[in-house]
Amino acid sequence: MQVTGWTIDIAREQSLSETTLRDWLSRSSRAGYDAVGLYLEHRYAFPSAPQAAAPGSLTPAVAASLVADSPVRVVPFLNTLGHMEGFMRSEGLQWLSEGHSDGSAQMCPSRPKCVEFARGLVSDAMEVFTDEWVHLGGDETRQLGQCSLCEPRALEVGKAGIYAEYFAPLCEWILAQGRRPCLWADMLIEHPSVLEQLPKETILFDWHYHQSPIESSRKFRDAGFDVVCCSAVRSYDSAWCHLDATYENIDAHYDAATELGALGVMVTTWEFSYFTNYFSTLPIIFAAGRRLRGEEWADALLAEGGEEFVAMAEIVGRQIEDTTPFLAAGQWRKIRQNMVLSQDPFGLWRVWRHEACGEIGARIMELASGVQASSPEYRYPADFYRLCVTWVCRCEDAYHQYAAGDLREASARLRKASEVFDALVDWMGYFASLGGSLGDVHRAVRLKARVVEVANAIDALRDYRPAFEVLSHPAYVPGDQAAWRTGQY
Ligand SMILES: [Zn+2]
Repeated sequence: MQVTGWTIDIAREQSLSETTLRDWLSRSSRAGYDAVGLYLEHRYAFPSAPQAAAPGSLTPAVAASLVADSPVRVVPFLNTLGHMEGFMRSEGLQWLSEGHSDGSAQMCPSRPKCVEFARGLVSDAMEVFTDEWVHLGGDETRQLGQCSLCEPRALEVGKAGIYAEYFAPLCEWILAQGRRPCLWADMLIEHPSVLEQLPKETILFDWHYHQSPIESSRKFRDAGFDVVCCSAVRSYDSAWCHLDATYENIDAHYDAATELGALGVMVTTWEFSYFTNYFSTLPIIFAAGRRLRGEEWADALLAEGGEEFVAMAEIVGRQIEDTTPFLAAGQWRKIRQNMVLSQDPFGLWRVWRHEACGEIGARIMELASGVQASSPEYRYPADFYRLCVTWVCRCEDAYHQYAAGDLREASARLRKASEVFDALVDWMGYFASLGGSLGDVHRAVRLKARVVEVANAIDALRDYRPAFEVLSHPAYVPGDQAAWRTGQY
């Protein structure tokens, strides 16, 4: 296998410093990795898109310095069609959009101005990143054929045709400059006919975070393409990290890559925001590097994290998750989804109150109190669970007062419960200071404000009580008894 690497997601809202990135590149080498992918999205200060260069983004000067000294390959991972949200949500770049999207926001592949924009990004990156590989993204382009220009083209050449007509020339253009283009492979699984039009030198990054890539990677190999099998650290879909699911996924990709003669493996890491962070998870990422060199997982984790981290991982990544299916792998980060991504702490109360305020919550609190790490980063995952259970139980307590008709007490207890989020504000400020999410501290502030807002709504009630679920819903409006909107999302 030629390449074993991992990807640093500096996109979304990370603000990693040069010192930190330099340290991680060194640690990557020591852990056995020979490549690191820098997943940039809009967090690289592209000279051709100055409107999107927000504070904390990686500058070309810093990137050039990292590339010059790095003990491992540094591969730029761009987006040139899907996941352009950070660009088109910057003032002055709205015109890139293919149209409304609930998920990955796609650029229009039919307009020449958009094609030119993408080439500008790629040129910017190629000036600084000297690696042979240039990753163009291309994943999750679910809006193919959506806009008024693309719709008739989709009828004529299909979504696959639109995709191929966009990416094939881009890949040829990269090749003509002596580099190798790389693409995520999910859209090629969905539209296999694209393979016939792509240059064969294109490297396909086949990502499957819940299963082995063997089936699709075999098809790509049979079609004559080089493949990199891409696993994931399962932090993006959990409250901290699904430890065993991570181990299984990384092992399955290594096995498949070995069997198929793949070019390499990449361990991807995603979305360290919305109350997760790199700093509490790094030893797992570096342990994976050792694992890919043949070490046992337990030895690798001990070598990278030390005994305190291993003990924390066992409690938070296994024992707490084992307390309830609500927290288990495959449940899509239910705590974070229902609280911070929904921007509604009462959402977590609604879906988790019976467990959190019963034996399961008590067990989680007991387990979490067993985490005794000297480093704050390693204490945080347990503390986050403790905060969440405490919030839900205090909210439940306030609810009981409300149900009993003691509105004054319900409001007072909610105000008291809102103080739980002060600790989260502190934690998120701390991680931001390390170079983590710049948005999380504001999300924590907003959660607290939501609770105070509901306490105020209780104080304003006269002679009639809406159901607490309605009153505490973000769409609540006084006087709206049918409350349709509170049932619609
Ligand atoms: Zn379009």
